[in-house]
Amino acid sequence: MSGALSVVPAGVLSGVEALKLFEHARENKYAIPAVNITSSSVANAVLEAARDIKSPIILQVSNGGGAFLAGKGLANDKQQASVAGSVALAHHVRSVAPLYGIPVILHSDHCAKKLLPWFDGMLDADEAYYKINGVPLYSSHMLDLSEETDEENISTCVKYFQRMAKMGQWLEMEIGITGGEEDGVNNESASAESLMTKPEQVYKVHKALSAISPSFSIAAAFGNVHGVYKPGNVKLTPTILGEHQKYAREQDNSKNEKPLFLVFHGGSGSSKEEITTAVKNGVVKMNVDTDVQWAYLSGHRDYILSKKDYLMTQVGNPEGADKPNKKVFDPRVWVREGEKAIVERVKESCRDLLSENKL
Ligand SMILES: [Zn+2]
Repeated sequence: MSGALSVVPAGVLSGVEALKLFEHARENKYAIPAVNITSSSVANAVLEAARDIKSPIILQVSNGGGAFLAGKGLANDKQQASVAGSVALAHHVRSVAPLYGIPVILHSDHCAKKLLPWFDGMLDADEAYYKINGVPLYSSHMLDLSEETDEENISTCVKYFQRMAKMGQWLEMEIGITGGEEDGVNNESASAESLMTKPEQVYKVHKALSAISPSFSIAAAFGNVHGVYKPGNVKLTPTILGEHQKYAREQDNSKNEKPLFLVFHGGSGSSKEEITTAVKNGVVKMNVDTDVQWAYLSGHRDYILSKKDYLMTQVGNPEGADKPNKKVFDPRVWVREGEKAIVERVKESCRDLLSENKL
């Protein structure tokens, strides 16, 4: 295998380069972890993990993550904070990613119908950046109209994809619902049937979008649920992704064994076997949010509990009443402990998705 860096450069990729990277992943049977980013600290930790384990990586921002990046003290009634925070993250990642020496896809997560002003704001920023640099600010965005009818879902994707394709940008879309709750979107009461997609449904998307550009992926639901649940409470059926590939291949008379680029949402807490089956069936991107959130908290928690007696006053600890604690409560020390835990968790995802040593 020639490594990913033989087909794409290090740093943030354009949409055209993202296509080359996803093709590399599909050919070499691995998927790339996509981690939700809420701060520069989290972004840097994820980049560090990918560098250390020699994996390409996807950094993504959710609508709520964008607002958080801009600052929770800001109003967001017109999605202005979500737009500003998402743009700010992109500039941060663009600035530091080349130093890590790995290919990075910069992506935005679920955008439901009511959040389209956020999407429009990001595309405005992409187009402005494209005018100057010849590449969009973001490599890729996700539209999630899965709660609407398939007709409205697909026609909205077509409309936006026509605008994005002019910049060579990648589009991820969702069909079938991801259950559970994430970022304020609650699908906990969705019916079991709506969590599972049919081959005809997925092919309709493929047909409509491939007429515009090859740079898109489909998050086709196969029983996925956001968040972590007790094992056995979520019934994932990644084998149906193989049926989607087969149907699309037959319809198009394609020589490509896996013509669809598929995305795995709600992967936190799923078994290694489910992950392996999904990758085998053409999943090239898997979202990892909840497990990384948990890792970040764990790193902070363990540090604070172990240093408790040094963290109750600025001066004075078990070594003496006049001993200063500044070196213990400096945020660069305790935030770093959360980052170290993220590094380990993201490496685990790279191993699960077989993206380790793929540069
Ligand atoms: Zn998702």
